[in-house]
Amino acid sequence: MLDSGTTPICRGLNGVIRPADDPIWERIYPPNHFGCRAGVRSLTAREAEARGGVSPLPPGLEVPPGFARPPTARWEPDPAKYPPELWEALQGKLAERIEIGREILELRGRVSAREKDQILRGLEGLRLSRWMEQNPIRTLEIASNLAQTRNRMGDYDRLTQSIRLLYPRPEGSWADEKPLGQLRAVSTKGSSALQAAAITLVHEFGHHLYEAMREETENRLFARYIQAKKEGRFVSLRARDGVLEWFSESLAAHRFFRRDFRKFDPATSAMIEDVLARLR
Ligand SMILES: [Zn+2]
Repeated sequence: MLDSGTTPICRGLNGVIRPADDPIWERIYPPNHFGCRAGVRSLTAREAEARGGVSPLPPGLEVPPGFARPPTARWEPDPAKYPPELWEALQGKLAERIEIGREILELRGRVSAREKDQILRGLEGLRLSRWMEQNPIRTLEIASNLAQTRNRMGDYDRLTQSIRLLYPRPEGSWADEKPLGQLRAVSTKGSSALQAAAITLVHEFGHHLYEAMREETENRLFARYIQAKKEGRFVSLRARDGVLEWFSESLAAHRFFRRDFRKFDPATSAMIEDVLARLR
């Protein structure tokens, strides 16, 4: 649009034709400034040819910061721009979606959309989707039997960074009402088979997280584990099987039974919250 209100940026760009895959769109996609009325129109190759073909860019293109975000760019809110209470509320509203193809590259197995959503909800609650995009689960396999692992509800393979989850689960592997500390595994406290599977998924994800954080965080986690052992604060029987199981069980308890877990083992609960916050 050309009139007396047209800025130098847009005057220079008027009529410019560039290929759709030109990286320049990352820098000049309108709005390019406050009150920008410019638009982009797509042309077929023949239409572009009829208008003289691809044109050179005007010299000295400077778009003010914050503008010219192409439609493919992801919006990330800036915490510095919000009061702390609002920021907290916003975080809740931005409830994350774990997507197959992004945070989890591939889903195998037959589950309905509803079952899938409920199983993934556990991971969504960790709010690590950004971290997971960089460190995705390669395959999540939901299987009705896990041949090699008797008595297991899931497993994590660190070589392939893949998780297998048993679902449907055998009777008696959920709805255990015992308190934290007296459970066989945290997942057995799930109120339904689906929630139990969601808890197991967070447990297996804990192994994935531990592997990825090993270098920076292992000493800290291990020190806390030794302390928990001294204090006899093992959230479940499974958590006694070493630092890896302890971390995964604690993560699952922190995610699903946060209030109880905070009472049961405040130091571990606080440490986990801190570890997660650093990754977000
Ligand atoms: Zn485990």
